[in-house]
Amino acid sequence: MRIVDIRDISVPLKGDIANALVNFSEHNVSLVAVTTDVVRHGRPVTGLAFNSIGRFAQAGLLRERFVPRILQADPQSLLDASGRAFDPAAVHATAMRNEKPGGHGDRASAVAALELAIWDINAKLREEPAYATIARHIGHPLPTAPVPIYAAGGYYYPGDSLQRLRDEMRGYRDAGFRDFKIKIGGASLEEDLRRIEAALDIADEGTHLAVDVNGRFDLATALLYGQAIAPLGLRWYEEVGDPLDYGANAELAKHYAGAIATGENLFSSIDVQNLLRFAGMRPGKDVFQMEAGLSYGLTEYLKTIALMESNGFGRSQIHPHGGHLINLHIVTGLGLGGCEVYPGVFQPFGGYPVACMADEARAFPTQAPGFGLEEKPELAPWINQLLAL
Ligand code: MG
Repeated sequence: MRIVDIRDISVPLKGDIANALVNFSEHNVSLVAVTTDVVRHGRPVTGLAFNSIGRFAQAGLLRERFVPRILQADPQSLLDASGRAFDPAAVHATAMRNEKPGGHGDRASAVAALELAIWDINAKLREEPAYATIARHIGHPLPTAPVPIYAAGGYYYPGDSLQRLRDEMRGYRDAGFRDFKIKIGGASLEEDLRRIEAALDIADEGTHLAVDVNGRFDLATALLYGQAIAPLGLRWYEEVGDPLDYGANAELAKHYAGAIATGENLFSSIDVQNLLRFAGMRPGKDVFQMEAGLSYGLTEYLKTIALMESNGFGRSQIHPHGGHLINLHIVTGLGLGGCEVYPGVFQPFGGYPVACMADEARAFPTQAPGFGLEEKPELAPWINQLLAL
């Protein structure tokens, strides 16, 4: 059993939306296909994955460094001990040959796309959904319960208005969502407070609404906003300052009594170790948003979770960034706190096929083999294009 081909395509994200710092109209994502020499149902077993939203496609890194290393490796070295599955950790280590430690930037998402495609292959080899493969890998019983989800939206749009925001939130509520998140920090405090009030008209209570600053604030602004929103009892106050400014986060945690969320821009276990050491994160309260697709894949993610647990933090505190199908499998398989969804935005990657929506505010992957990306109608044309290249 061996990998015979690896290819990638850069897929543009649809939409002209922005958070406090980033406009997504120029963003794209690497969709990768890792093809094996195993034939099932007349077709080679092919792993599909992508490197999530927000860090651009990584075609250059994939083609110049990581893909050649995997294709040139001894095929036997990429298999697990049984020889009947690929070893995601071995693929990760092979991709990272000759790479210096530290500086976990865009390469973390390039490697993640490849590593996650290996999980897709392993699940397809067993003809089971990826969440089942993931749960077995960590020794958990087969998950059966749908996971909590929340609708992430409330971006800043050209010509935006409070009415547009209210209509957007109402659309999510009508679709069955009960928890929501909106962006703040891209307008004045007064305007953002009006946006929060508008969202609360639909969310009803602060406990159903989180706000995300996307790393925009300095400490003084973080504290000022924190004081203003504290009485609202919001679900969480997300990525308030620079994601690497652990000192500022620790200071904020001293003053802001509600939950703080961060971690989506940390790309390795060692970064999270520093977050745990220096950022004042509180066990049982704060929220961690690291995402496998941005941080070398699931092998590294498991290391990160083990590190958190050994420091007294629970996996229920993890709500990964990235409202897409791969994360729904990961959250389900690992028993994490919940999953984000981007209904209507970040297509063709955002959201889940309708069949995954279990009931109000919860979702469960279908029984499609692997991550089931082939079932997502918006992705299908891109997958077809990638496989026909
Ligand atoms: Mg965020």
